[in-house]
Amino acid sequence: MTTQSSAPRTRSEGKSAPRRPRTVAIPQALTVRELADLIGTTPIEVIKRLMTNGVMAAQNQSIDYDTAAIVASDMGVEPTEAEAAKATEPEAEEEEVFDDPPESLVSRPAVVTVLGHVDHGKTSLLDAIRTSRVAAGEAGGITQHIGAYQVSRDEKLITFIDTPGHAAFTAMRARGAQVTDVAIVVVAADDGVMPQTIEAINHVRAADVPMIIAINKVDLPQANPDRVKTQLTEHNVIVEEYGGDVVCVPVSAQTHEGLEDLLESVNLVAEIQELKANPNREANGVVIEAELSPTRGSTATFLIQGGTLRHGDAIVVGEISGKIKAMFDYQGNRIKEAGPSTPVELIGLESVPVAGDRFRVVKDEKTARQIVERRKRAREDQEQKDHAHVNLDTLFNEISRGNLKELIVIIKADVQGSAEALRSSLEQLSTSEVRVKVIHTATGPVSDSDVMLAEASNGIIIAFNTRIDPSAKKQAETVGVEIRTYNIIYQALEAVEQAMQGMYEPVYEPRVDGHAEVRQLFKSSRLGNIAGCQVLDGSVRRGSLVRVLRGNEEIAKTKCDGLKRFQDDVREVQTGYECGITLSDFDKFELGDVIEFYHQERVN
Ligand code: GDP
Repeated sequence: MTTQSSAPRTRSEGKSAPRRPRTVAIPQALTVRELADLIGTTPIEVIKRLMTNGVMAAQNQSIDYDTAAIVASDMGVEPTEAEAAKATEPEAEEEEVFDDPPESLVSRPAVVTVLGHVDHGKTSLLDAIRTSRVAAGEAGGITQHIGAYQVSRDEKLITFIDTPGHAAFTAMRARGAQVTDVAIVVVAADDGVMPQTIEAINHVRAADVPMIIAINKVDLPQANPDRVKTQLTEHNVIVEEYGGDVVCVPVSAQTHEGLEDLLESVNLVAEIQELKANPNREANGVVIEAELSPTRGSTATFLIQGGTLRHGDAIVVGEISGKIKAMFDYQGNRIKEAGPSTPVELIGLESVPVAGDRFRVVKDEKTARQIVERRKRAREDQEQKDHAHVNLDTLFNEISRGNLKELIVIIKADVQGSAEALRSSLEQLSTSEVRVKVIHTATGPVSDSDVMLAEASNGIIIAFNTRIDPSAKKQAETVGVEIRTYNIIYQALEAVEQAMQGMYEPVYEPRVDGHAEVRQLFKSSRLGNIAGCQVLDGSVRRGSLVRVLRGNEEIAKTKCDGLKRFQDDVREVQTGYECGITLSDFDKFELGDVIEFYHQERVN
């Protein structure tokens, strides 16, 4: 039997680190690097500790509380769950909602997208607008091409998104990013309204964005603008000339005819919208396009929608965090800051974001990393939920949300008679909202093929008076198929019925993990009485549920909130070892009391 001679091993190592705190508040999840910072050690040291505990993790990888707490204990630092840390997590920063007071708003340039049928001249028109401005000396030499540019007309800036086509427009919208203030639908005067013209119009309408029709290629002899206008009428797009409210401008990307009119129309349409933003806050916006350049790494065009983006800002883009190391305007000039509706190019993001991803500036890089970690976790949880199989716990929610119209059941039983009895009774539980449908009944144990069938048909398996093949059990756990075991028909029926009504309460039973006997009592001014114990069997863990037994009587039921070996806080103590135990809300120990450690295990 082990005695005091098994001196604590980890303590001296813990003490050897000079700046190491005695206790540390650990959040529910954090990266290896963050844990190292908290403990006052290097990430490499943490990685080594993790490896000895069988966990392989990189510096930026997220680990959960339990894992982090083991590492902390190993290194002689007492871990506590960080309630406060949770409260200070920047939840609000995650929601991309900005409450800009009306007095903070100032006019901003309109953001324009060009859409239309293939070959009708979208690219040519965007090029023509850009180069005509260059010729007019308003835009200087354009040294590089990014996903957006700006021109000015009547001293008003207009931002053009330089990725034409409604695929990009809709892809962004699908990601929740509404960037466009004015849509120009290009229709070639010779070709007329084509299928993608209609599509483009429908996309613009769905987005509820004001539309301007640019009838292009009017330089061509076969151009017939009037025919285009008539065709548009057939699709409920009535141009002003025909008494409607849609502005229509004849243009030629080739001869540059009508371009000034087009820009003027954009300004007119934009003016009605009174486009405004607050430039005096941390920036937010949308990724217009991004790519991995062989020479420059990840490059991305961002459109700032609110606030001012500055060199050095910490940002979060989708699931990428970063700090702005270099920022360029659309002409390739290095800039230090940029305000609303400005397109900028950023270099130095860790990876390539996706067009339509939103970005925002946050307090610092650490906050950025935390937000990204949380987003990743939220997405993973969601993905898991999306893949989650039907089960009795979530059945009611799924039914209420209208996601489930049928509860598919597979019954395995000891004899066909009970299987059939169960089938008809279960099917009678059907309601107007959900039908119980038994798709397979058979005798014998639950097999792999039953699990496969349940998985494919999103059903549950009821094992009645029969066992589950071990491989089927494993398979079911892997794919998330629920198998319920019953021996009494009425219990099976009751469980399903209650689940359907949202009244299903899982039943838990206590499972004993170990016992410790009180051998000595110590008084502590801070902690009250500490029970000096020996672990009689099993193991005891800090945080575990406990019962204090005196003879045959249970005198307290609470939680173990302190577990020490000598002076050291530990998470777990095994059979034969001595330890100091404190409980929450109970310290009236007597010698000979037995502390039973247990956990609740789900049994149905
Ligand atoms: P997109 O597919 O809508 O981007 O169309 P493009 O800009 O690639 O133009 C398709 C073709 O139409 C090209 O051959 C252009 O040179 C031609 N084009 C575009 N605009 C005009 C125009 O105003 N006049 C004439 N004559 N041709 C044009």
